[in-house]
Amino acid sequence: MAQQFEDRFHRKFYYLRLSVTDVCNFKCTYCLPDGYKPSGQKSSSFLSLPEIKRVVRAFADCGTSKVRITGGEPTLRKDFNEIVHSVAATQGIEKVATTTNGYRMEKQVAGWKDAGLTHINVSVDSLDPRMFYQITGENKFTQVMAGIDRAFEVGYEQVKVNVVLMKDLNSHELPAFLNWIKDRPIQLRFIELMQTGEMDDLFQRHHVSGVAIRNQLIANGWLLKVRNKNDGPAQVFVHPDYQGEIGLIMPYEKDFCESCNRLRVSAKGKLHLCLFGEHGVELRDLLQQDEQESALIERIQQQLQTKSVSHFLHDGNSGMTPHLASIGG
Ligand code: SAM
Ligand code: SF4
Repeated sequence: MAQQFEDRFHRKFYYLRLSVTDVCNFKCTYCLPDGYKPSGQKSSSFLSLPEIKRVVRAFADCGTSKVRITGGEPTLRKDFNEIVHSVAATQGIEKVATTTNGYRMEKQVAGWKDAGLTHINVSVDSLDPRMFYQITGENKFTQVMAGIDRAFEVGYEQVKVNVVLMKDLNSHELPAFLNWIKDRPIQLRFIELMQTGEMDDLFQRHHVSGVAIRNQLIANGWLLKVRNKNDGPAQVFVHPDYQGEIGLIMPYEKDFCESCNRLRVSAKGKLHLCLFGEHGVELRDLLQQDEQESALIERIQQQLQTKSVSHFLHDGNSGMTPHLASIGG
């Protein structure tokens, strides 16, 4: 194995979030409120399967054991199953996850499982179909819920569900969500709304801290679980009376970045050291031949030494990221 990816602050990177497309068919108010708009370049400019294989190989050779395939909506890629299969076949990769809006899950999840997908995160911002429609711009609540049921039928033992927490829209739904996961092995993850470059006053209107939810959980007997090395940044709570779990992702909380263990590669092949970084570093010129792997690793290692200790969200600086669909959230 080449030298493990590690930065100046002794953070080790086990986890790659790989975006495979910027395209999305939903219009989430906090992400792509006007829907996906092509940036002028054709969708063929997204990473090809051979490029994906090379970047994953290099990361795996430097200690990465978990890859999340994200987007945009990753399942819009016609070769999604082949992408999953090739990531899963890479030596050293133990977990292959995806984050999806779930609209195709009911029909396709059996194929994802066969291809080697080990973990699924699906976004469900409300259990009220009308609110789901209002937040996502798509009337697909029933389809997404059927997709979750199907995922259990085909053998997934747990499904993670992402909920972007929004004041006045879904923040009052905690009791309904708790009821939903009582007898279901779902890890429900409340994500604090994050401010991005193209967001208007939505953040001011709807941002709410996860602290109130954490306090309610603790008061009701929920206990914080211990983190594993390649877990995400969620604080996960468990309760003896519930089959499901609750995760809280609170990027505005002090020390959030201390446990950072992930790097990102965008659908156009740029390395992002932070979700809220200033710019991406071009990797694509080194993804054209297998023989370029050592040069690719060297470039990533060098860039890692410039990774900041923390994001600057508290100063109102969300970096260059226009919306999370552009580098996969
Ligand atoms: N399309 C897929 C989906 O929505 O699950 C994957 C890509 S999406 C960018 C990844 C995650 O980022 C989703 O759970 C989404 O809800 C979340 N997200 C997007 N914009 C966000 C924002 N401004 N603040 C917090 N979470 C956001
Ligand atoms: Fe699409 Fe996901 Fe962004 Fe919603 S959050 S618009 S589903 S990329």
